[in-house]
Amino acid sequence: MKIHNRKFDKNHFSEAYGIQCGEVLPADIKSKIPTGFTWCIVPKNSSSTLHKHFEFEMFIVYRGKGKIRSGSDTLLIEELDCIYLDEFQEHEIINTGDQDMVILSVWGRTLKKTLKQKSKDQIVITSTPPTPNGDLHLGHLSGPYLAADIYRRIALMQGFDVVHYTGTDTYQNYVLKKALETDNTPLEVANYYSGEIKKTLETYHIHTDLFQEPKKVRNYELYLKEVFLYLYKEGHIIEKEVDTTYSGQNNTYLFESLISGKCPHCQSGCSGNLCENCGMHNDCAEIIDKQSTIDTAPVFTKKTKRFYFSFQKVMPQLLTYFKQVQDDNIKQFIEQVLENNLQDYPISHESDWGISVPIEKCEQQVISSWFEMGVGHLVSLLDQDKELKNSVDAVTRLKEAYQGKCFVQMFGFDNSIFNVFLFPGIFTGLGLPIAKGLKMNKFLLLEGQKFSTSRGHAIWGKEIAQKVNVDILRYYLSWINPADYENNFTKRHFNEFINTAIDQTIKKHILAVDKTLEKFKYKTPVTTRWTDAQEAYYKKIEKEVNKYLPYYNLEQLSLHKIAVYIFEFTTIMNEFRSKAILFEADTHQDFLQTQVALELMSLRTLSLLSYPIMPGFSEALWNKLCPEEGIEDNGFNDLIAFIPSNINLQNLSSCLNFITYQLEDETVLS
Ligand SMILES: [Zn+2]
Repeated sequence: MKIHNRKFDKNHFSEAYGIQCGEVLPADIKSKIPTGFTWCIVPKNSSSTLHKHFEFEMFIVYRGKGKIRSGSDTLLIEELDCIYLDEFQEHEIINTGDQDMVILSVWGRTLKKTLKQKSKDQIVITSTPPTPNGDLHLGHLSGPYLAADIYRRIALMQGFDVVHYTGTDTYQNYVLKKALETDNTPLEVANYYSGEIKKTLETYHIHTDLFQEPKKVRNYELYLKEVFLYLYKEGHIIEKEVDTTYSGQNNTYLFESLISGKCPHCQSGCSGNLCENCGMHNDCAEIIDKQSTIDTAPVFTKKTKRFYFSFQKVMPQLLTYFKQVQDDNIKQFIEQVLENNLQDYPISHESDWGISVPIEKCEQQVISSWFEMGVGHLVSLLDQDKELKNSVDAVTRLKEAYQGKCFVQMFGFDNSIFNVFLFPGIFTGLGLPIAKGLKMNKFLLLEGQKFSTSRGHAIWGKEIAQKVNVDILRYYLSWINPADYENNFTKRHFNEFINTAIDQTIKKHILAVDKTLEKFKYKTPVTTRWTDAQEAYYKKIEKEVNKYLPYYNLEQLSLHKIAVYIFEFTTIMNEFRSKAILFEADTHQDFLQTQVALELMSLRTLSLLSYPIMPGFSEALWNKLCPEEGIEDNGFNDLIAFIPSNINLQNLSSCLNFITYQLEDETVLS
């Protein structure tokens, strides 16, 4: 090993704070150590200037004697004395001896709280696979998909191993209905819209580590059937003879999208097997005033044998699990379902679109796409290439694949019954742990009404993304995120939002900072002397960051609160600049230097904390400020840090290209 020796050499010293200062460590070692070491020489008959800085500082007197003054406190100091000064503690050193004073200064920052956490299990985020019977509109996007992507980015920044899995819910009978309406085969419909959905997610920078399309996954069908058989043998799937609904016209079996009427639980309009209003499921025969949605013939019922998922045996484990649920909306939903006496869930239907029930003489029935989705989440964990022997083998493989992983399920309110009851029921029946986190969102309305594809009351994801950059859309959709209650997208409010939250804050600020940087020839300045207002600002930024950190954690995750945070943070940055009166005159060069260093520090913090919501803008800003390290590599470490001196910041405002939009009749949406 090499031994370093850096000689004490006055020729390398330069003036700072009125005294001579020189680095103790060579540059390559200095960059690895968070603490600074500086030799200081206070010449005979002189003193340092009175100053303060954001770092703490320790002085060890090596030679000479004198005084140190801080506020009204003055101390005599002599050789081998060790003095400690807090952050922003103003101080001055006076040499009273008959020779130069030599002092070793050790300085740095006290340890700050960061969001970075220890990585344990891999987090597998699932967002309900969309049905490939249409493309995604803003109502869809504002729900589980955006939340899943934002949480994935947060978890990455926190140091977790995390993936986002989704795909398409190919065997939904809405696909079948669309095929009937458009004269295509269901597979043609599914393939076409799967492609469109995938493109829309990509357009919105919603990253998926796996996009699972059941038809294209080897062994998918096999696993589904083996899991079905396993749960059947274990008594979790039971056979019942029940009233079943048919259309009088051609004896078509009616279920899910093929039948509608009034919900037997809440009396509002509902579809077969599910009510979007109260979230409860139904067995189609119990729907009030039932009607076929594919013809005008009356609906009749007859007794048939079908399969149900029975909650009876898994209920004790589910009740234990429910006790840990923290989300108020989900807790309320659980209470409502339990009060209504949770019914067994129908998991087989007579149809030729789907995967057939693997039990003899029942092959004309297919497995419900909701049961399939629960198993599909598990199948997504597997290495698909291995051959499968039997159902015990299948379940063993799933258990192995599940090890070291935990699920976080993101879903809309209308899919609560599946995510909160059916999937946990299936997992428990297979002897697997239930999801670690459940995140439900309520509906987003458009101009006060439900999004409706059939009535053309929708804003399509791809269409609006051609006019407005997706970072702005992600920011706005987070702002109005319907996590706790229904929220409303209005064009008027959207236009106002862009003006207030983008133009008047982020854009205005970055353009102003960019302009001032010209005075520093586009190189980062470092802090020198501080005004009281600058010190107060620095402390405020520290406080602000801590205030909002909890909303980035899974337990309290709130897209809305993070969006509000970004807005408040940029507002504080703007105020700091507008109140400073340093920019015109050239007389306060040192304070101006501190001002800009603080502004760049805040922009760095902004880029980190806004990255999950506005990834394009944040990463571009980060790459300007910190070109040495990727934003995800830094993660939420050191949320508050100054930009090193002499970074080239030419064209800082190019990051604004990610938050631009095309004006249309002076408003974004007319
Ligand atoms: Zn209902």
